[in-house]
Amino acid sequence: MQNQDKHEHGHESDPMEYFRRQCQKSGLRITPQREAVFCALVDSTDHPTAESVYQQVRSQMPHISFDTVNRTLNTLCEIGAAFVVPGTGNVRHFDGNLSDHQHFRCIKCKRIVDFHHDPFDNVAVPDTLVGRFIVMHKTVCLEGYCDQCSADQIGNVSQ
Ligand SMILES: [Zn+2]
Ligand SMILES: [Zn+2]
Repeated sequence: MQNQDKHEHGHESDPMEYFRRQCQKSGLRITPQREAVFCALVDSTDHPTAESVYQQVRSQMPHISFDTVNRTLNTLCEIGAAFVVPGTGNVRHFDGNLSDHQHFRCIKCKRIVDFHHDPFDNVAVPDTLVGRFIVMHKTVCLEGYCDQCSADQIGNVSQ
């Protein structure tokens, strides 16, 4: 029996290897465009928007269109080679960090910071979902004021 709950990407040493395997599993062709978009995402640590991934890829592939990049990002998410960071409002932020990690999102400056807390990796999938849904990714997101903004916040509250 397959354990769909398990993180397949948890301890991937080579992201490119993982990307190729996910493409093969999904019967997706590995094109230079897809590779470039994936690389741009994996190289980033700041959870870029589709627009900034596009700017990044365009520096190597001047003729690629925003639409292609955007569609490729969607495809990467569908095959589990990228993720949309949840709770980021209208503008989607993508995550190419394939290792287990969680997010802290600052509600003031909108910064999304990666952190890693082992117990959060092991959040159980509820019985009601097991067997009905295929869980590709589990994420814990904490929201509040980051270290840079919390000082201001405390100042405001005490006034
Ligand atoms: Zn902040
Ligand atoms: Zn992240």
